[in-house]
Amino acid sequence: METINRLESEVRGYVRGFPTVFTTAKGNRMTNQEGEVYLDFFGGAGALNYGHNDEVMKAALMEYIQGDNICHGLDMATAEKINFLETFDEVIMKPRGMDYKIQFPGPTGTNAVEAALKIARKVKGRSGILCFTDGYHGMTLGALAVTGNSAKRGGAGVNLADTHSVPFCDYFRDGRDTAADLEYMVKDGSSGLEKPAAVILETVQGEGGINVASDEWLREIERICRENDMLLIVDDIQAGVGRTGPFFSFEPSGIKPDIITVSKSLSGFGLPLAITMIRPDLDIWEPGEHNGTFRGNNHAFVTAVAALNHYWRDDAFEKEILRKGEYMRKRLNEIVDSHPGFNAEVRGRGMFIGVDCENADLADEVAAECFKHKLLLETAGPRDSVIKFMQAVNTSDADIDEGLDIVATALQTVLE
Ligand code: PMP
Repeated sequence: METINRLESEVRGYVRGFPTVFTTAKGNRMTNQEGEVYLDFFGGAGALNYGHNDEVMKAALMEYIQGDNICHGLDMATAEKINFLETFDEVIMKPRGMDYKIQFPGPTGTNAVEAALKIARKVKGRSGILCFTDGYHGMTLGALAVTGNSAKRGGAGVNLADTHSVPFCDYFRDGRDTAADLEYMVKDGSSGLEKPAAVILETVQGEGGINVASDEWLREIERICRENDMLLIVDDIQAGVGRTGPFFSFEPSGIKPDIITVSKSLSGFGLPLAITMIRPDLDIWEPGEHNGTFRGNNHAFVTAVAALNHYWRDDAFEKEILRKGEYMRKRLNEIVDSHPGFNAEVRGRGMFIGVDCENADLADEVAAECFKHKLLLETAGPRDSVIKFMQAVNTSDADIDEGLDIVATALQTVLE
């Protein structure tokens, strides 16, 4: 840790909450230099939905590397890219009746968002983008400009012209219909929100503190987009790939986004892979208009294909995630209710779950106490008051109980 503190930039974050040096990891366990084993409910902030070193993905990658196959091919055609596109089409898109062109925008989530914003503006020939309070879309300038949480903008202090943040579903926590407000403002010439090119949203805001949009609200936003000539961009970077149960988080709502961004757990192995899914008639890019050296990493294609084939060929995986998520929320509610006067709210969908302690210090103390008891988890939300659960979605029932027992003990200690 001395080297980290001396040489790594002050911008370092998670290393401060988890001050130990990790060396190996398997499933949902991480081991440090001292041989101490931690239960990982942090899950690479959504990049490790299948856990660490999943045997299926590992075997595929080992075989690929042994064969001196292509490591880096820019956007040349490689067998693995073709395999990925075909598998994604067959396993994910076709069964859901989806038809999209796949862009490889760059290695990571924020690149997928940049591409989405750019193509939306190009298609509509207008620059306005509507985003939502507490939304998070990445750290590059365009993605940051549609990120609601000003704290996340930090010293970079960016607000690119013509991005406007409007209240998310239930932002005011008073049942107010924020979709109706949005519709009013889009139609009202004096609101400054006239004729935006697109709306970008997360169905469940992750960094924003696990704020869940209702299916009805999503359908209303879709309707407002259609009626006002705006494109609907769904950022499924954190909520997608099974975190909420189905592969895409918006599936239960029935909405049909024009553009979808996916990254984080897409490679299944913690390797960088991002895609921007574009409705075919909107894919008006000229060749080379959105470039980048590390687009479509072949190692990531290999593990992504293995993950899609292994986990997503039927709906058993989705059902298990929904079952476990329901169980977790029930237990977390019991834990919260066992402390009279502790006003925390358990929120979430599938295994995308947060406990809002409405108090950042308390949430921080609980996370720190969990760390002492060898459980890794983080806090989220605009005031960092939400304890966030992001363990692998294939975590066993026994491990879920073990982690929740630690949370219960930590909460007991902190509230005493
Ligand atoms: N969108 C969402 C919804 C995210 O949660 C994140 C990452 N937390 C991003 C975009 C940015 O992804 P990346 O960190 O890979 O650039």
